[in-house]
Amino acid sequence: MSVRWGLIGASTIAREWVIGAIRATGGEIAAVMSSDAGRAAAYARDNRIPLGTTDLDALLGSGIDAVYVSTTNDLHHGQTLAAAAAGKHVLCEKPLALELSAAREMVAACKAAGVVMGTNHHLRNAGTHRAMRQAIAAGRIGKPLFARVFHAVYLPPHLQGWRITTPGAGAGVVMDITVHDADTLRFVLGEEPVEVTAFTQEGGMGAPGIEDGVMGVVRFRSGLLAQFHDAFTTRFASTGFEVHGTEGSLIGTNCMTQRSVGEVLLRTASGEEHLPIDRTNLYEHALAAFHGAIAGQGQPAASGEDGVRSMAVGVAALQSAATRRPAAVEPGL
Ligand code: NDP
Repeated sequence: MSVRWGLIGASTIAREWVIGAIRATGGEIAAVMSSDAGRAAAYARDNRIPLGTTDLDALLGSGIDAVYVSTTNDLHHGQTLAAAAAGKHVLCEKPLALELSAAREMVAACKAAGVVMGTNHHLRNAGTHRAMRQAIAAGRIGKPLFARVFHAVYLPPHLQGWRITTPGAGAGVVMDITVHDADTLRFVLGEEPVEVTAFTQEGGMGAPGIEDGVMGVVRFRSGLLAQFHDAFTTRFASTGFEVHGTEGSLIGTNCMTQRSVGEVLLRTASGEEHLPIDRTNLYEHALAAFHGAIAGQGQPAASGEDGVRSMAVGVAALQSAATRRPAAVEPGL
């Protein structure tokens, strides 16, 4: 049976990626909620959604099974609690909330309500990152020692809104991009981070006091060190994700992106080879897993707890930058 969805937030990410992914994986979209009646109606019309509303209760009462929460970061918490209380499964955007305590509360509420909760960390769904995780688990690079994440991009003009102006909505590159790096590292490496040191930058795009660039290092339980570089301000950089081990290196290029592109080179004593990459759309891969989890088959690609743990790295990075000291990564739940 098809999963009926309500969209909480008339957002860009839903329009560009998630509506299509829901439909491509057998779901249907019954309703969309916006804070503005005109935007709700226009969004519903443009995206062929039967109901556009400004009333969360009307959305939750429209016969839906699940909600996709993609409002600004400050609103995820209250909307997720309301959806869980109404017995709806929740796929929530990252970062789950502005505070870790709120994010933990969201996970607990979904658990108590017996609904599935997922976090839309799309990058762990990429064929490139899945191939790197498999290669590491199979021991192909020996013991992983270092990772490097290159995720400095240029924030497209149509997204240069609350992300660079409004602290109350969750502005800043760390909670926007670093949390994705953290999730991808946790997924590919299969281990948890313990400590972060970071410096942030105000490079001219963000309003005063809002970081638009960051560099830092995460220490993992095994002792592995991962460096990350994230920005909204670099027009000409390329993205990448590398893991260097005792017996080999994995070099992912052009892979920190929403599109199913990029390559992974494995270099060992035997030479170099490009790993085969599954080119499934990242968001469709995530939605297929979420639909499966609702049907009792498997788990979401990234759980609510993954959302908390990956967010905790961003929180620690900001704390480190503010205090000029390494900061411990808080535990998940
Ligand atoms: P948008 O700015 O497009 O949407 C956020 C909110 O802004 C919407 O809910 C909407 O409010 C309002 N809004 C949107 N368009 C307009 C407009 N033209 N005029 C006035 N208000 C508008 O944000 P994103 O889609 O970029 O991000 C939403 C969430 O998704 C964030 O939490 C972000 O971190 C996350 N995200 C995740 C990605 C991923 O790949 N996992 C990628 C991009 C974003 P209303 O609903 O009230 O109409």
